[in-house]
Amino acid sequence: MPVFGEATAFETLVKLDADHGMQTYSRQPVAFVRGEGSVLWDSEGVRYLDFLSGLAVTSLGHAHPAVAAALAEQAHTLLHVSNLYYNDLQPRLAARLDALLGGGGRVFFANSGAEANECAIKLARRHGQANGGAQRHEIVAAYGSFHGRTLASLAATGQPQKHEAFQPLPPGFRHVPFGDLDALTGALDGRACAVLLEAVQGEGGVQPAPEGYLMGVRALCDEREALLIVDEVQTGLGRTGRWFGFEHSGVRPDVVTLAKALGNGVPIGACWASDDVAPALRVGDHAATFGGQPLAASAALAVLDVMEAADVPALAAAAGERLTVALEALPGVAAVRGLGLLLAAELEAGLDAVAIALRCLEAGLVVNAVTSTALRLAPSLLVTDDEIDEAAAILATVLLSMLEEVR
Ligand SMILES: *Cc1c(COP(=O)(O)O)cnc(C)c1O
Repeated sequence: MPVFGEATAFETLVKLDADHGMQTYSRQPVAFVRGEGSVLWDSEGVRYLDFLSGLAVTSLGHAHPAVAAALAEQAHTLLHVSNLYYNDLQPRLAARLDALLGGGGRVFFANSGAEANECAIKLARRHGQANGGAQRHEIVAAYGSFHGRTLASLAATGQPQKHEAFQPLPPGFRHVPFGDLDALTGALDGRACAVLLEAVQGEGGVQPAPEGYLMGVRALCDEREALLIVDEVQTGLGRTGRWFGFEHSGVRPDVVTLAKALGNGVPIGACWASDDVAPALRVGDHAATFGGQPLAASAALAVLDVMEAADVPALAAAAGERLTVALEALPGVAAVRGLGLLLAAELEAGLDAVAIALRCLEAGLVVNAVTSTALRLAPSLLVTDDEIDEAAAILATVLLSMLEEVR
């Protein structure tokens, strides 16, 4: 309990941020200081159930003991040597990821999703150049997509309103409606080197690719000699109930990007490409000082150990079913969409998702408004049935009170 007249720890943090932080975020009024599994505690000691996982990042929950132990040991052993040298973890991690992706490929390590996509974009341009000349450099992406905030990944992102303030953006990106094969057929001409898509558009509102779409895209890419890049930054590593989101449609991409869940909170990104494609990036073409450094790689290796031992795709599929059923039964929920534990609850007309997410926070449940009318739920893949039931109960209370107010 703060002494009267004394700022709370939270108020002090808000003041420091307001005075010294670049004001690029519209933050929710809470500062988290500790976590364990699906539970978070704030600066005032209040407990929350985390059903967002830091935007689908902490897929194994907070402070997972195996990840924490690997990090602590690595911190006492070796943090960083640069990519001028080998380290003893990065090649092992590359082999593990390649095996998860079915083998026959190679991995470049970055530090974030946007950086993983930068690697994919540069690789696709290099590959296009070698297979059709300099004019073959365009990347076709989808409206509603999200690929990151660096200039090139922003240019790839199919949200024109995010582009305007930063023109001129790097050229060579075109957008077509997500799920529309005819539009893609029209756009994939001799200038296109690749198609870049998410298996489920995450930031775009949790919109799974329509049935048969990725299969059609794959066939079109083969016909027109364009690469298929699947951005699995949000969907990858078990989140959708399969190891990778593209597995739901039975396609094999040429390039796959990963990040969010790979380090369970430690920043690391990866760009995987098949052996036919990966050699297009030559020595000196691309680099990252921190990419695949021992600390991040140790976290990712521990994450993959836990994920494989627990079979997290199966857990996510089962928990996703339970959560979907619970959400569908809630007052004010019009529809539930998504795959596995990447779900959105579309609210009935008149309900404001931003206001409801804030009410949930006040009631001890962390979710976010992925659109103005839909809540995103992306709990830990190790979430328990009791936690799902508790989250649904909090949501039911919040939704009932909101419905009473708007009626
Ligand atoms: C979050 C996200 C990114 C960007 O990742 P950062 O680590 O923020 O750069 C890229 N693609 C998808 C699909 C994402 O969800």
